[in-house]
Amino acid sequence: MAARIIDGKLIAEQCRELTATKAAQLKTSRGVVPHLAAILAGDDPASQVYVRNKERACAKAGLHSTLHRLPADVSQQELIALIQSLNQDPSVNGILVQLPLPRHLNTTQVLDTVHPLKDVDAFHPENVGLMLQGRPRFLPCTPAGVMQLLHSTGTPIAGKHAVIIGRSDIVGKPMAALLIQKGADATVTICHSRTPDIAAFCRQADILVAAVGIPEFVRGDWIKPDAVVIDVGINRVGERLVGDVEYAPALEKAAAITPVPGGVGPMTIAMLLQNTLKAAELQSA
Ligand code: NAP
Repeated sequence: MAARIIDGKLIAEQCRELTATKAAQLKTSRGVVPHLAAILAGDDPASQVYVRNKERACAKAGLHSTLHRLPADVSQQELIALIQSLNQDPSVNGILVQLPLPRHLNTTQVLDTVHPLKDVDAFHPENVGLMLQGRPRFLPCTPAGVMQLLHSTGTPIAGKHAVIIGRSDIVGKPMAALLIQKGADATVTICHSRTPDIAAFCRQADILVAAVGIPEFVRGDWIKPDAVVIDVGINRVGERLVGDVEYAPALEKAAAITPVPGGVGPMTIAMLLQNTLKAAELQSA
């Protein structure tokens, strides 16, 4: 039987509606409209689309957003100075630095400059540490979105073997951290470019999260029957967007699977809005 397709667009819309309701309550109770400041350095076409989508989503949820466009040759000092001024601006609740930054910039130093209370991407070491200890301030957007998608399937996560392909700071590592937390209780294997025989790990995965960045890296015959498959990958192949999983054969074997597009992507944005709301709540408490 073909897998259930996990509708990330619909679930993201439901999350966004909840954020909109809570944002309206915040406005009534404390006169605060959550404000996300996005920084876009350079003119990478994919980044422009992502930032536009985030601005649109903010508007739909009743959140305020501003975009700070910087030229591709912006200096490290200029970018840091902008972040410092946003850190001090009481009207700004969340700061988003769209990645990737132009290659001459030091991404780690830039992200570390964002004030931890405005770090709605949850990249700051303080927020990563809190999340690892199971007392998160902000949840990392993409992994938090994946957790919501997993919960939406109704399949318990506890005791399941979750295999994650990819160990990036943005997806793979925090994904593993959320899945092993008490309450989620999965047993986690992380694979990366030095892992031999990834197919063998995938065949044992009750939950498979692919975050590799290689189109159709996970072959259909690697999927364990009745697995839940979450495809984080977004790869442009010609005119098409393709995930990291070979979709059609995986659809035949899995119990549930996310499509690309329309799976994890919309959830990442929904979680960003949720974090921006939380930032505004924390700052106005
Ligand atoms: P990344 O930083 O490039 O990390 C890719 C990971 O995949 C690394 O850990 C790398 O291993 C591993 N890898 C690369 N080649 C491999 C191979 N041949 N075998 C096994 N592992 C391999 O990418 P990312 O930021 O995590 O993003 C991954 C994908 O998700 C991309 O397609 C990205 O566009 C997409 N993404 C989507 C969303 C969303 O909202 N849907 C959000 C973020 C990212 P090493 O560490 O050993 O190099």
